[in-house]
Amino acid sequence: MSTKILPDSDTQSDVKPDLSHGDGDHERFAHYVKKAKITESAVTGTPVVALCGKIWVPNRDPKKYPVCPECKEIYESMQSGKGGGDE
Ligand SMILES: [Zn+2]
Repeated sequence: MSTKILPDSDTQSDVKPDLSHGDGDHERFAHYVKKAKITESAVTGTPVVALCGKIWVPNRDPKKYPVCPECKEIYESMQSGKGGGDE
């Protein structure tokens, strides 16, 4: 009867840096996108276009990120045209 002992292989401290792809800022902000588009993207996996023009796949929790200042500005200018209703 033999017992196979696996080698202790997790001694390597391979800490991966937080690599960013592309220009990166679309990964750091929560952009404004029509909710229907986000829902569609969740189903189809296709990227969406934010108000500021960023194209990305909203696959993360937007609540973890600050709101994109560009999107916020555009969104607020849209809201001001409707009488400033608070949602
Ligand atoms: Zn944005």
